[in-house]
Amino acid sequence: MSSTAETYKAFYQRSIDQPDAFWAEQAQLIDWHKPFNRVCNYDKPPFVHWYEGGQTNLCHNAVDRHLKDRANQAALIYVSSETGQEKTYTFAELHVEVQRMAASLKALGVQKGDRVLIYMPMIAEAAFAMLACARIGAIHCVVFGGFASGSLASRIDDATPKVIVSADAGSRGGKVVAYKPLLDEAIRLSRHQPESVLLVDRKLAPMALVAGRDQLWGDLRQQHLDAQVPCEWLDSTAISYTIYTSGTTGKPKGVQRDTGGYAVALAASMKHIFDGRAGETYFSTSDIGWVVGHSYIIYGPLIAGMATIMYEGLPTQGMDGHADGAIWWRLVEKYKVTAMFSAPTAVRVLKKQDPALLKKHDLSSLRALFLAGEPLDEPTARWISDGLGVPIIDNYWQTETGWPLLTVANGVERTPSKFGSPGVPMYGYRVKLLHEATGEELTQPNEKGVVVLEGPTPPGFMQTVWQDDARFVNTYWKSVPGKMVYSTFDWGIRDEDGYYFILGRTDDVINVAGHRLGTREIEESISGHPLVAEVAVVGVADALKGQVAMAFAVLKDASLLQDGAATLKLEGEIMKRVDGDLGAVARPARVRFVTALPKTRSGKLLRRAIQAVCEGRDAGDLTTMDDPAALQQIRDRVSAS
Ligand code: AMP
Repeated sequence: MSSTAETYKAFYQRSIDQPDAFWAEQAQLIDWHKPFNRVCNYDKPPFVHWYEGGQTNLCHNAVDRHLKDRANQAALIYVSSETGQEKTYTFAELHVEVQRMAASLKALGVQKGDRVLIYMPMIAEAAFAMLACARIGAIHCVVFGGFASGSLASRIDDATPKVIVSADAGSRGGKVVAYKPLLDEAIRLSRHQPESVLLVDRKLAPMALVAGRDQLWGDLRQQHLDAQVPCEWLDSTAISYTIYTSGTTGKPKGVQRDTGGYAVALAASMKHIFDGRAGETYFSTSDIGWVVGHSYIIYGPLIAGMATIMYEGLPTQGMDGHADGAIWWRLVEKYKVTAMFSAPTAVRVLKKQDPALLKKHDLSSLRALFLAGEPLDEPTARWISDGLGVPIIDNYWQTETGWPLLTVANGVERTPSKFGSPGVPMYGYRVKLLHEATGEELTQPNEKGVVVLEGPTPPGFMQTVWQDDARFVNTYWKSVPGKMVYSTFDWGIRDEDGYYFILGRTDDVINVAGHRLGTREIEESISGHPLVAEVAVVGVADALKGQVAMAFAVLKDASLLQDGAATLKLEGEIMKRVDGDLGAVARPARVRFVTALPKTRSGKLLRRAIQAVCEGRDAGDLTTMDDPAALQQIRDRVSAS
């Protein structure tokens, strides 16, 4: 076992030099129904199979196994400043609710391997649904509730769910967002039709039920109040879930995860990285629609025997409908939160308020605040670190990795953080920096390269792209000529102490308030407008959101450009279109109209040059540009406003 005296360096080295022994040791952190007989099968790179022969269950590890020692301890703490609800479920109560949900899903015909799409606000029933799927071996596909019908429809078609679990509505900033009409429209748009839709009626918005398809959770729950649904023992390599993420094409990728490797990865990260201990409380402010929600609202804390807070609402909203910029800190005090996880954007929102709010509550339980999802700028890190008086731990990872790739593992050895750097490679990750063009490994400090991983990737990492092994290999593992390495599509540098600094994406993915969006998806939505001929969307630096989307559209009828009122109306229409297709998260900050877009001679859009112009930077080498006037036009549009 790892002794407390072991340095992180030695711990990391062991994970790289003796991966089987290292990961066999970590596997002891969870319960196995049947022991595995092979730790890591890497016979067919880049595919990795962890813990072959072993059988386990995520729900068992998150819920059932804690009943022996902590049945009456808090497990799920649901707090909504939108509806004023606050309810704690003990492990015993969670066990009961999950079985009711599992029985309901089974009654709707869901079997092992079937997909269940979850399109829900942050309510306890969403957690029951995820855990119930894990319990019966169904594959859950959670779609972020902020996405609209178009995004949802493409995910329904890709996941082909037997059942969709949803609700009448969510609520944001006190405003009800009806989910049911968005869902009905998505089902109308999709080729695949689910057999049933299970709906939680929060009584926030009226719902028209489709006879024979729509079922109310209230009714099914009532029929299964005493349900006993044992955990289905699953092969370690069985798929636990898929989660969609944006890439450079318009079609989102279903990131697919296994069961055993994921459970071990989370249990290990809770111990070594988050230093979370059974009986304590964890608070992640993310959403179940994102990977952080999967790993560190639901599975990670529960596997570690911790209570987890599920919070619906803004960071500045009180339980009584009034503003409260200290709501999160009130929850930290009330539930004695020891570890908290959020995103830099959320901190930047809080930064606009009175810093005294950070001192209003007793935060003595809190040991650290973890931030991830986008670059953490130094002023934001310093502000929150000074205000809270606890270490701020930046951690870098992706939907694909499932758990942090770069950070510091204070649970192994207390390691200093450096402002601006997420930290050092985590155990199990073979991180390298490669030269963009030649693919040569960069070994000197402070050289800029692409952050890549050599296989085998550690437990918890994506298995493949759902139903598309070729896309997994071609997208992620073939971007560097002559080398089979996983590309993160992020630029990075490493300093002389081995700390990495992330410098942004190498591809056309943008990061708005910690939400990852593909510019292609936004472009596809906008170019669907009948008056638009062509469009380019780029991410532009923003003080609050990190980045915002900016669109430049060419109209079919250039004469419209002369009509100020018409273009203003059109801009509004286009934004509404993006809201309807993808959701307000993807709405561009501005849509500007031009007569041509800058392209290379081979017709490739010069998004990086457009972005540079928008940010007032030098547009770089433009020797391959076809029409310099097009870029000048963008420069003029940007400086005119
Ligand atoms: P997602 O898959 O939505 O979690 O987005 C992953 C991307 O977000 C990464 O590829 C990075 O571009 C960015 N990212 C995540 N965490 C960090 C971080 N701590 N620092 C800098 N960028 C980050």
